Amino acid sequence: MNRAILPYLGLFGAALLLPLFANDYWAVIGARAAVYWVLVGGLNLVVGFGGQLAIGYVALLTLGAYTSAVLCARYGLDPFLSFAAAGVVGAVAGVIVGLPALRLRTFYFAMTTLGFATIVTQIALAWQSVTGGGIGLPGPELPKPFDTPWGFYLFALALAALITWLSANVASSRFGRALVAIRDAEVAAEATGISKPRLLTTVFLFSGAAAGVAGGLFATLQSYITPDAFSFDLSVTFFIAILVGGRGSILGPLIGNIILTLLPEFAAPLVAWSTFLYAALLLAIVLLMPGGIAALLDFSNRKPLTANRAIVPRLDRLRGLLDHGTAQASIVLRNVVLSFGGVRAIDGLDLTVRPGQVHGLIGPNGSGKTTTLNVISGYYEPEQGEAFLGTTPLPHGAPQTRAALGIARTFQTPRLIGEASVLENVMIGATIEGTASFVETMLSLPRHRGDEKRMTAQAMDALAVVGLDGLAPVRADRLQHSELRFMEIARALMLKPAFLLLDEPAAGLSGDEIKRLGELIVAIARNGTGVLLVEHHADLIFDICDHVTVLNLGRELAAGTPGDIRAHKEVVSAYLGA
Ligand code: ADP
Ligand code: MG
Repeated sequence: MNRAILPYLGLFGAALLLPLFANDYWAVIGARAAVYWVLVGGLNLVVGFGGQLAIGYVALLTLGAYTSAVLCARYGLDPFLSFAAAGVVGAVAGVIVGLPALRLRTFYFAMTTLGFATIVTQIALAWQSVTGGGIGLPGPELPKPFDTPWGFYLFALALAALITWLSANVASSRFGRALVAIRDAEVAAEATGISKPRLLTTVFLFSGAAAGVAGGLFATLQSYITPDAFSFDLSVTFFIAILVGGRGSILGPLIGNIILTLLPEFAAPLVAWSTFLYAALLLAIVLLMPGGIAALLDFSNRKPLTANRAIVPRLDRLRGLLDHGTAQASIVLRNVVLSFGGVRAIDGLDLTVRPGQVHGLIGPNGSGKTTTLNVISGYYEPEQGEAFLGTTPLPHGAPQTRAALGIARTFQTPRLIGEASVLENVMIGATIEGTASFVETMLSLPRHRGDEKRMTAQAMDALAVVGLDGLAPVRADRLQHSELRFMEIARALMLKPAFLLLDEPAAGLSGDEIKRLGELIVAIARNGTGVLLVEHHADLIFDICDHVTVLNLGRELAAGTPGDIRAHKEVVSAYLGA
């Protein structure tokens, strides 16, 4: 059994025992915490995992509450069916609220969610014939045995447990990892083939549905709803529960949600001070524990790591990992031109990267090496010329298409998710290889479990290949710089790439590490992968490359075997400085 679920079982057990020793008043408070969690648990995937500042989620609660109240009070629908209807309305509205996130960032997106919340409340006020306007309307009434305070409490608790389970399944899947990747390393996420629009739309559907159902439950709990029941304070509370809980965690926000629901009860004698207390609490948390409750509970990452760790790649494990078949087509650049403002970063470049070879790309700083990689991996669109895989042009401005074509890369500055484990970081590389749908994942069906098992094993292989398997469970931000470079290579290898683009992988490595890196790169190429290696360490380039291109001011200064380059007068005088 997984030890990670023990805290959840503990909380759930305590919640089940509550009716035995508390009075009816506590049934209402407990039910409120459970209802809020149904919303916050879904929202947590958007905010805590996806990093999207959706602060106006009270809008979806309002929509769900009115949907089920109107359907029950005016059309006599069964209350449970009305909750389902509220879920559907919430899901649709969730996507509408979420869509701006695809174009707007951070605070701009936060503002649109707030705007939506205001609109929904105004409609609820104005549409009197349906919503009852300011007078309101009764909420759904549940049949026996859920019509008592404790009966409803247990019903809400069951749904809270359900949302916990569903969101935990998503969080620990390729979808959850991809969300965190979009949050912390969007460029790398694209390079591994993650499609942000699809992923966010799916997650907004999920969290919207949860918020809609929470609305139906909220209307039942209130027994009578008016627009002022859905205050902006409530929305802020949901958001703060996640902030206090810590991002990328489920247990943290769950505890945060319980604390924030209970706090007003204990603070009741101090009601005049409550705003002040909230503000003080929030400040204290932001200043004293930026990782939130989740960071406080993360005991395993406080154990010190062994010092003097050596990275020892296991090249014998490479064959099992990169089991791709026969040679592929080459990557070909033809007369590529690209400028930034007045600077011609690439100025008519031809380049062919062949499968199974190490192709070095060298040149002084600013000569266009990184830009060349960015054209191949689809971040930039050339003004002239074309990049091909074989004879097929590579689509411009679509970096998320490269993973499926077998083109993987690393970055000059490692792009990784500091708060995720090394293993999770590497597993992100195989996101597009997953076969289970979001629904299968949410319900933890066999295909999802098979995916996870396979990806975990493959990531452990990739980590063994680069010599980091001992650090698999460690948070990535605790690693040394050189280890991060090898970790990025492991992530790229998860694609079983036909081509691997490496941007200065030896920068910041020790002499020993550079030697091992060189052996690793050669072994990768000998297994059939074409490697394009941007590097400053001339020794490494001359040792391991089959072919070298020297760039200067975005143009090819020289090209040939390492022997040719070493003998090239201009290169030697201008660049190698011998
Ligand atoms: P290298 O990797 O060889 O050091 P780059 O490809 O990063 O060089 O840069 C080539 C030139 O293009 C430099 O003059 C750099 O300042 C410019 N450049 C690169 N990226 C950008 C960008 N996003 N915006 C503006 N200028 C850029
Ligand atoms: Mg560069």
